[in-house]
Amino acid sequence: MERHRTDVVVVGSGPGGATLARQLARAGRRVLLLERGRDWRRSPLYGTYPGALLYADKHALLFTREGLNIVRPLMLGGATSMYCGCSAPPASWWRERWGIDLEGHAREAAAELGVAPLPPELRGEASTRLAQAGTALGMDWQPQDKFMSPGRTGPFDCGARCMLGCRCGAKWNAAEYVDDAVAAGAGLLTGARVERVLVQDGVARGVRGRIGRRELEVEAGTVVVAAGGIGTPVLLRNSGLAAAGQGMAMDTTAMVYGLSPEGGIGQDPPMTWSAPDDDLGVLYSTLIDPWLMYPIVMAVKGPAYPFTWPRWGRTLGVMIKLTDELSGEVDERGGVSKGLTAADRERLRAAEEVAGRILRQAGCRPDSILTTPLRGTHPSATVRIGDMLGTDLQTEVRGLYVCDASVFPRALGRPTVLTIIALARRLAQQLLAAATPGQDTATPVLGAPARA
Ligand SMILES: Cc1cc2nc3c(=O)[nH]c(=O)nc-3n(C[C@H](O)[C@H](O)[C@H](O)COP(=O)(O)OP(=O)(O)OC[C@H]3O[C@@H](n4cnc5c(N)ncnc54)[C@H](O)[C@@H]3O)c2cc1C
Repeated sequence: MERHRTDVVVVGSGPGGATLARQLARAGRRVLLLERGRDWRRSPLYGTYPGALLYADKHALLFTREGLNIVRPLMLGGATSMYCGCSAPPASWWRERWGIDLEGHAREAAAELGVAPLPPELRGEASTRLAQAGTALGMDWQPQDKFMSPGRTGPFDCGARCMLGCRCGAKWNAAEYVDDAVAAGAGLLTGARVERVLVQDGVARGVRGRIGRRELEVEAGTVVVAAGGIGTPVLLRNSGLAAAGQGMAMDTTAMVYGLSPEGGIGQDPPMTWSAPDDDLGVLYSTLIDPWLMYPIVMAVKGPAYPFTWPRWGRTLGVMIKLTDELSGEVDERGGVSKGLTAADRERLRAAEEVAGRILRQAGCRPDSILTTPLRGTHPSATVRIGDMLGTDLQTEVRGLYVCDASVFPRALGRPTVLTIIALARRLAQQLLAAATPGQDTATPVLGAPARA
């Protein structure tokens, strides 16, 4: 049994866990961050197809019982290792409905990370043509804010494969905040899978799990679970909080493709333009699956569809992201049930029609237009504020907090990461304010939290 003792133990290194660990460590708190995956950033496989199959849960073949494919990266940095780098400010309902003011935290983080749209010449010629077609139909297409700084570490080289992991270094990844946390003194254990929270008399005492073949126990006065929209409810259910994982949101996504004589968007950075329709509850954007993922995704649609693969280079894609209703569940073994409700289905049909019109306006052949199978990249709202959490993100167990996409009270229908970072900055501020001098100064059992 490997044992540690610390002030705050954080489970999961996605944007929620990484931000919290960084903010607390920089303020001098003793933090230990536990991540079940490994750091792939310096591996030659990072950002490649074999790499993506290794670090995505179930080799990217994770499906809900209803057949929706979930992309769930398990690695340092969490899903920001494979995200599209899009940013959106927190919705106004956080403040209006819940009294949670995230705007200042989001503004600070966005300024620090240089969030902005890509410059016009890097938005992709075909993607820009698609956005112009949408604009010609009266829609409000705008350049999409990005967590990307082209040329930061080398030449900018971004296409659809950017979603396998960023190889050119332009895209910010939460693993960078983990680096900052470690530089500020936080401990980090990778390959450390937490199985349950230790609770005594209604108070969190630490966590238990495994690191490789060894058992792992961490004693801590504050436990923050940030294992993502699926990992967090699994962990809480196995710790006796049975309501976790009842209902979830996914911002369920489909792409509508069309064959364009003028060339496709596969070499463009993903999602450089977008257009929200808040009345319908849909976000449209420019997106196509990476080259080798295309036939795999199409095989799920039906046996004839992979034969459209040769068109990939001339395909335009309109992404539809639905602000879906809460439904389904995550069970204690990580099995997920999530489909679309009747209302979601109806909105999806309406959005498909809009996407089809945009593609025809952009010159695509009407008989080439088709919709991909559904997928989910934003598992969220599984341990919701208002149901299981106070607005301080604390559970019914004192000292046990949640800080990731699980806490959303509903689907965002927008990029999630900036909102999660803002929630984590706010929680860090709250924990620091609550810490009385002299408290939480426990000494380590096996020395200071060790770096893996
Ligand atoms: C392909 C793709 C594209 C996306 N594009 C965008 C985008 O452009 N913009 C945007 O804002 N969002 C995007 N997202 C969504 C966004 O990345 C996620 O919503 C966000 O990363 C969720 O953050 P999180 O902190 O909740 O959890 P995660 O990022 O999922 O991190 C959770 C971490 O916890 C670890 N973990 C899980 N269980 C355990 C355990 N038991 N013990 C220890 N560690 C554990 C996991 O390995 C993981 O590293 C995209 C997602 C994907 C997959």
